[in-house]
Amino acid sequence: MLSTMQDVPLLVTRILRHGMTIHGKSQVTTWTGEAEPHRRSFAEIGNRATRLAGALRDELGVQQDERVATLMWNNAEHVEAYFAIPSMGAVLHTLNLRLPPEQLVFIVNHAADRVVLVNGTLLPLLAPLLPHLPTVEHVVVSGIGDRSVLEGLNVRVHEYEELLAGSSDSFDWPELDERQAAAMCYTSGTTGDPKGVVYSHRSVYLHSMQVNMTESMGLTDRDTTLVVVPQFHVNAWGLPHATFMTGINMLMPDRFLQPAPLAEMIEREKPSHAAAVPTIWQGLLAEVTANPRDLTSMKQVTIGGAACPPSLMEAYDKLGVRVCHAWGMTETSPLGTMAHPPAGLSAEEEWPYRITQGRFPAGVEARLIGPGGDLLPWDGESAGELEVRGNWIASSYYGGVSGEPIRPEDKFSADGWLKTGDVGVISADGFLTLTDRAKDVIKSGGEWISSVDLENALMAHPEVAEAAVVAVPDEKWGERPLATVVLREGASVPYTVLREFLAQTVAKWQLPERWTFIEAVPKTSVGKFDKKVIRRQYADGALD
Ligand code: ADP
Repeated sequence: MLSTMQDVPLLVTRILRHGMTIHGKSQVTTWTGEAEPHRRSFAEIGNRATRLAGALRDELGVQQDERVATLMWNNAEHVEAYFAIPSMGAVLHTLNLRLPPEQLVFIVNHAADRVVLVNGTLLPLLAPLLPHLPTVEHVVVSGIGDRSVLEGLNVRVHEYEELLAGSSDSFDWPELDERQAAAMCYTSGTTGDPKGVVYSHRSVYLHSMQVNMTESMGLTDRDTTLVVVPQFHVNAWGLPHATFMTGINMLMPDRFLQPAPLAEMIEREKPSHAAAVPTIWQGLLAEVTANPRDLTSMKQVTIGGAACPPSLMEAYDKLGVRVCHAWGMTETSPLGTMAHPPAGLSAEEEWPYRITQGRFPAGVEARLIGPGGDLLPWDGESAGELEVRGNWIASSYYGGVSGEPIRPEDKFSADGWLKTGDVGVISADGFLTLTDRAKDVIKSGGEWISSVDLENALMAHPEVAEAAVVAVPDEKWGERPLATVVLREGASVPYTVLREFLAQTVAKWQLPERWTFIEAVPKTSVGKFDKKVIRRQYADGALD
């Protein structure tokens, strides 16, 4: 028997309409590097998104399902694109501006983007690529930046503000199918070519609702979130869409992502929340240790995208900023877990929960699969590969314009679950603890060593700024850990001391014999430790 309920499609358009009316006064503040940041209300953003949709359709001829790419920092214009493009029925394709040029070329060609919206400051990056991007017909430029680099190239160049000025502030938004593509994002291609994940209107809508639940980020229109996580990194973890649902104000750093301006924007604008990967927080911590700033407006910060060292959480606790650890991936939109401890615990009792990756929300089902394909119990001890399914979890990758969706066997199970490639345990009450990525685990003499455990233990040493541990081949054991360590400025500690320090918390057979002191840990395009590069660069030069 069918229900008697209305069946209203879950569309980004509805989030837009809601945000620009009910929460019309909420604001997007964009850092400009000048005395005053730039402020725009949700009502204005909505109006401009409407004009942008009109211009894309009427001036540039963008049709339903066509991909419109953005090569932009986090700023108000990028938020406008987030709403205009999906709501008009086209597909928002966020480009990761830190990818190597050949990967950007691959991604734009694979998606067959017809239009690129670009911040003027990023034109030096885009211009040399354009001769290799045959599907791109239009480039729309916003903000400051020298346009002359586009001269002589085979594209039509438009000024963003001129397009908006010439466009109407009403648009007959199409009533779309909620399963239609709204946005796409390519994984950063740490293994093989990047793969395109295509989000639907429905998945974006449901994911946004989850982001706003108190067991996730739980923010309201009294809050301001500092969105450091780039809009090209899994839709800034869903924040721009989620904020329009509940009126959360956004503080956007644009290109000012260095620790000093971030510290300044926090002190001046007083956001109550922020979201970023651990390396950003490490950098900010070093900055405010050297030049103290008041960060206490931030009641909660969401740290995810890579394991957050417990020592980092402790350091922020001391600064009056509570960290909530989260896990997710491009294929999970990305919200997978968040580490809010269960109710009724003391601070001491909460700690073991806070350092896990967190608890699964109702929309994400999880299971652990053992090495032989067997289903493992949630007992906090049985370690296996995490598989998930749910309304905002990918079921395949984009197969290209005329290709079928791709479902590699190592990424999707026969019964449709996503194989995350992450290894860990789940407690009886649903808290996930990841020990490693399957490909980063160190397989030593038939036993597994968690690179993350070693890193966390090392980063707890007061003189260690960052530490990354990778597997290197070993004749006797198959693989052994190599510790690469960045010391704090001015510090000098021999590796033997660090080894002794590790021995206090780590089993003896897991202690690394190979050590290298380095200037900085190589990072991926989204600011994570780049273990592939570390293996390649440092495996040979290690001290034994
Ligand atoms: P990429 O795979 O290119 O790094 P993603 O951003 O999709 O791009 O990365 C997802 C992966 O990041 C996860 O599969 C997991 O290995 C890692 N990750 C994300 N959050 C956490 C976390 N809180 N703790 C440990 N690992 C994490």
